[in-house]
Amino acid sequence: MLRPDILNSYFAPITGLPGIGPKLAKPFNRLLGRPEGARVLDLLLHLPASTIDRRARPTLREVVPDTVVTVEVHVDRHVPTPRGSRAPYRVYAHDETGDLVLAFFKADRSWMERLLPVGETRWVSGTISLYDGIPQMVHPDRVLDAAGLAKLPPIEPVYPLVEGLGHGHVRRAVDAALGQTGDLPEWQAGTPALGFHEALRRVHQPADTEDAQPLGAAWQRLAYDELLAGQIALALVRARTVKQAGRPSIGDGRLTGRIEAALPFALTGSQREALVAIRADLASQDRMLRLLQGDVGSGKTVVALLAAATVVEAGRQAAIMAPTEILARQHMKTIAPLAEKAGLRVALLTGREKGKAREALLVALASGEIDLVIGTHALFQEGVAFRDLGLAIVDEQHRFGVHQRLALASKGDAVDVLVMTATPIPRTLVLTYFGDMASSELREKPAGRKPIDTRAIPSDRIDEIVARLGTALAQGRRAYWICPLVEESENSDLAAAEARFAELQAHFGARVGLVHGKMKGAEKDAAMAAFAAGETQLLVATTVVEVGVDVPEASIIVIEHAERFGLAQLHQLRGRVGRGDAASVCLLLYRRPLGEVAHQRLEALRSSEDGFFLAEEDLRLRGEGDVLGTRQSGFPGFRLARLDVHGALLDRARAEAAEIVENDSDLSSPRGVALRLLLHIFERDVAVKLLSAG
Ligand code: ADP
Ligand code: MG
Repeated sequence: MLRPDILNSYFAPITGLPGIGPKLAKPFNRLLGRPEGARVLDLLLHLPASTIDRRARPTLREVVPDTVVTVEVHVDRHVPTPRGSRAPYRVYAHDETGDLVLAFFKADRSWMERLLPVGETRWVSGTISLYDGIPQMVHPDRVLDAAGLAKLPPIEPVYPLVEGLGHGHVRRAVDAALGQTGDLPEWQAGTPALGFHEALRRVHQPADTEDAQPLGAAWQRLAYDELLAGQIALALVRARTVKQAGRPSIGDGRLTGRIEAALPFALTGSQREALVAIRADLASQDRMLRLLQGDVGSGKTVVALLAAATVVEAGRQAAIMAPTEILARQHMKTIAPLAEKAGLRVALLTGREKGKAREALLVALASGEIDLVIGTHALFQEGVAFRDLGLAIVDEQHRFGVHQRLALASKGDAVDVLVMTATPIPRTLVLTYFGDMASSELREKPAGRKPIDTRAIPSDRIDEIVARLGTALAQGRRAYWICPLVEESENSDLAAAEARFAELQAHFGARVGLVHGKMKGAEKDAAMAAFAAGETQLLVATTVVEVGVDVPEASIIVIEHAERFGLAQLHQLRGRVGRGDAASVCLLLYRRPLGEVAHQRLEALRSSEDGFFLAEEDLRLRGEGDVLGTRQSGFPGFRLARLDVHGALLDRARAEAAEIVENDSDLSSPRGVALRLLLHIFERDVAVKLLSAG
């Protein structure tokens, strides 16, 4: 679907704006996260982080120190910095009520004399504080004459910046962008008080501080637009995927019966319930799109296998896609023996299957000699074809996007999709990312699981921990030692892990193994296999073990710099233990001082093992982190909507999207045409593509 011409001014490159040449374009592209060239729209959707209120116009006597004021003064005399001195350049000024010193460091005399001519009136804006009892303004933000004052915005937006850009650059560019773009047909229902363009103008050129705040009417309108665009996109994807259905897969129990018989345990109640729901979906005329949420260790793999077997019984094929090579191999390891007993033909396809073996595998897959293929994203690459793919299972969904889900589903005709996630997703986020996808939850833990003893310990007690670890290893126990993620640098991560490995190896010798993300596949496997077999007892690892790795004999996990991890991630990591018969321990090492949010996170983890509870808690704490300014923007994938502030709008957006898609599924009504603009603006291009295809 071509972008309508009415949006051209929004999608024009920012280099077309006055004052943005090739030199400034670079930092702007960086600021707006568009290395390939930012557009006017990107600038308009870059909203202020805060505002400066310049409306206060007191006399000098009325000035409240350390607040932003704009004062009208008469310029009296200049006192330039004496040669060799580090004193500031001073300009003395006054009004009827008092005196003011304007101080400038490293100022150029002739420039100063032009800026503040003696004998004239000027308006200076900034903060005034007392210096030796005399009111002083150091480096005024603004020095204006009457004409300049007339143009001074009462409330000035303050933008997040990058190196090479000043506030003035961004403000001027935004003003120009607002001037070059115009109203668009209204896509919201009814007649909203503020149109889209008017809302942008309010946020960028606020008349009141509220205008530029996330809770203000203008920002709320924009946030609602963004949420609505997201929900319409999901509703369209859902409507199309369900509509294409009509190929029920009904199993006869031949394979699943044999698999269940081969299992060394009985399925939990939740696993059975999930399977009943999945089989009903598979058997129905509608296409399945279901989320299987289960805490770490809740046994999703078996559910996936049994779902796959059902489809195979119906004469079709199934695929399980995992986010990492390690996980794909591990699924293979778990599934292969069960599959063999049941007579299910399984194969593994990752980036490492190459050459002749890979070709043979692809041929077997295309001819239907393979029933179930387990792999990584290599599965949805070109050249991979199925004879008849009936079910795509995507494990650990949060690592993939809607695109991948669609890509895998497009490998067959009316493919049912089951999305598995090990990090339970709070209901609000399910709605945001998946729309109203059906969901099964494995809330019941397999029988025999023991609680994990979780403790937070300051890292200065590391020697003590190493000593106790020595005792545990001597008793034959197995442990993970997780090294932290150092922001922005995979290499320093690695250095930290390698240094820790060397240190622990000096203590415990050959019993220590190492696995990290930069290792070659075969090396990783070897390290994991040695640990699984007990040849190594202590595995130093970066977060590559985070998702799904299953070594039931491991009963201790030490997490270094636990304060750097998010709650969900810590919970995932902890889930690597407590999988066997032994009582397990999780030691969270933190570096002092511990911030308030980090403290609450570790406390939540100590007090609960319920992933669903922890997920809600994580969201709450992350919201607070946002308020504290530790995170720049709201939630991933959104440009201006923030879940902590605008989450309440989500239900309405979802309901409205459902109604829109139901009544006008190809967005062809006048309002639908306007809504297409909205989808373009927030780049819900998956949905836009669906519209053009349908
Ligand atoms: P996850 O949901 O984290 O993917 P897994 O599928 O890896 O969990 O299962 C964790 C462990 O629990 C595996 O060793 C698996 O064999 C075992 N398991 C799965 N279901 C049951 C059950 N019903 N009873 C006992 N153990 C089970
Ligand atoms: Mg798993």
